[in-house]
Amino acid sequence: MTRSLAEAAAEASTCTRCALAEGRTQVVFGNGDPHADLMFVGEGPGFHEDRKGEPFVGAAGQLLNRMLGEIGLERGDVYVGNIVKCRPPGNRDPEPDEIEACTPWLVEQISLIQPRVIVTLGNFATKFVLDTTTGITRLRGQIHEWHGRTVIPTFHPAAILHGGGEKSPQFAALREDFALVRRTLDEVPVPTVAASAPGEIPRVVPGVPDGPVPDADQMELF
Ligand code: URA
Repeated sequence: MTRSLAEAAAEASTCTRCALAEGRTQVVFGNGDPHADLMFVGEGPGFHEDRKGEPFVGAAGQLLNRMLGEIGLERGDVYVGNIVKCRPPGNRDPEPDEIEACTPWLVEQISLIQPRVIVTLGNFATKFVLDTTTGITRLRGQIHEWHGRTVIPTFHPAAILHGGGEKSPQFAALREDFALVRRTLDEVPVPTVAASAPGEIPRVVPGVPDGPVPDADQMELF
């Protein structure tokens, strides 16, 4: 029996699967259209997100919203989530055990939303989702096929801001990548693999290609 995204979020709100639970103000599960064609995956909540309980509400979020506007979309048209749902102390990178503990939430989100296109924001989310050691500079600007859907990696908006914003050489690349997202959404057909019979789609957890599946039930629709 499949539950709704809201039901999953309600359970996640009391999650204590890793040590990040101790330092958070609240779980930042993700938000947006639960049936979005386009999903963004960032790294993890920062200070403002932890306080508000929503992803990408700070300066990086403002840039994300601006880039969405340039391709004719609003935040409510897409779904935005992160690799880890709780703020790592001091905004440090999430630890491998924290990611492993949090992975089932991301898998369930993707399973329920069934986005046609996933945009990974920055090196961290891209490496994790595509299970690669190749850096974002080489991976961005192209579409990657992943579990029957399309992944488009791009720079993290916070990296652009740290690098000088509009003056940053990466800003033009970010803009190009959003234009690619627009074209892809316009061109890529609705995948026929979505919600097909259990077992037809590879049961693979992002970033853990040959490892054990942590919760087989959550993978049915992946
Ligand atoms: N950076 C992220 O990766 N995620 C957020 O939610 C905010 C900033």
